[in-house]
Amino acid sequence: MTHAYPLAIGEIQCAVLHEGSSTATSENLVNRYPGRSRHEIEAALGGSAFEGSLNLLYVKSGDFRILADVGFGSAGPPAMGGAMAALASIGVAPADIDLVYLTHFHGDHIAGLYGEDGKPAYPNASYACTRAEWDEWTARWAASNDESDQRQLERFQALRDKFTFFGDGDEIAPGVSAVNLEGHTLGHSGLLVESGSERLLHVVDLLHGDFQFAHTDWQFVFDSDGERATATRRQILRRCAEEGLLTLFYHLKFPGLGKVTIDGDAFAWRPIA
Ligand SMILES: [Zn+2]
Repeated sequence: MTHAYPLAIGEIQCAVLHEGSSTATSENLVNRYPGRSRHEIEAALGGSAFEGSLNLLYVKSGDFRILADVGFGSAGPPAMGGAMAALASIGVAPADIDLVYLTHFHGDHIAGLYGEDGKPAYPNASYACTRAEWDEWTARWAASNDESDQRQLERFQALRDKFTFFGDGDEIAPGVSAVNLEGHTLGHSGLLVESGSERLLHVVDLLHGDFQFAHTDWQFVFDSDGERATATRRQILRRCAEEGLLTLFYHLKFPGLGKVTIDGDAFAWRPIA
């Protein structure tokens, strides 16, 4: 299935690319939220399984084409790997991408950097991330004896000269800037796209399931700093609600776009119609 969700933010053309979807039951989720009981999770799910997706953001600022994260590419489970076809469906070839912005270095965001042939999948792209993200993962991989970590380190070091580091608020291209989302990983970041009076905030892995809007203290098993992740989640969700921002989440059901509202003491999610 090929899915792209094109949208315009003022003068800036964007699209959400569907890498794939999966469902998770309370049994699956109990392993992802340490300290949460099966009962708590079932209550939060309200009897249904959680249906999530992987959503990549494509942004064209002037003639500059940015892809935020690359999904699994050819390296993932069978239900994944759709983003390349989604990109093709909007008339963009991998060779057209000028900048690959990596929000963080978890496998479901970076595995697609290289193709099956072992070459960079976006042959003309430069790369960007935060300095903290680069430092966290290159140090982790260097300290690991795991073969896949060693390979990951080699692959990133081979691209080192093509990387630029951006901090909170730095402009990446006209109308596109980096947003600090530290906690999930130490250098986790998102993108703010703004043009005219319109804005889109891509908050990536600020949360991993829609049930976390009502349970912002639930920490994800792969958070590098769970306490920091919770503080960032609350701060950014509040900003999204108060500013009425169109918001994109990487892991919510495709296209992962909508608005965050404040509902009593808890946040809630209104997906785009
Ligand atoms: Zn993720």
